Amino acid sequence: MAVQDGMSITMMPPFPARKATYDMQTLKDPKQDLFNLYPEAPLCRNCNACTEACPQKIDVREGVWKAVFGDFKSVSEMFMDCVMCGMCTPVCIADIAPNLVALYVSRAQGAHFTEKPLGLDARIKEIQDGRFDDEWATILKMTEKELADHCATVK
Ligand code: SF4
Ligand code: SF4
Repeated sequence: MAVQDGMSITMMPPFPARKATYDMQTLKDPKQDLFNLYPEAPLCRNCNACTEACPQKIDVREGVWKAVFGDFKSVSEMFMDCVMCGMCTPVCIADIAPNLVALYVSRAQGAHFTEKPLGLDARIKEIQDGRFDDEWATILKMTEKELADHCATVK
């Protein structure tokens, strides 16, 4: 919500959650690797405190369970609105950082279990080969008004 008169605002101090270190591209079995990187994840006690703490109304508890059972696709969709505020972490009695577990799972889903859209590699190569360099140079020189007019014509 927008700031209002009389509102009291407090910044949450960063909570020292343990963040696992990994090189996502080189992981061979990301669903099994979850248990090496975040061994506390399966120790969830189902207390639901993380879900109640979440300002984004994510069912965090459910997400942790889905991660443990390997449903990475659902987790990546459930945590789309996570703002990494960390409020789910200090309340966890099992010392899980659900947001970091979900971040790992979402990265793994994108890197290992999601088909790349057709034509994406071809388009990336076109960009790398400079096919759009002239258009990009033109856009960078535009004023805000010229840019708005340009966008209106290409809708
Ligand atoms: S870090 Fe994400 S999942 Fe955790 S409380 Fe904040 S918004 Fe919710
Ligand atoms: S706060 Fe921790 S133990 Fe409780 S449901 Fe969430 S992840 Fe599980």
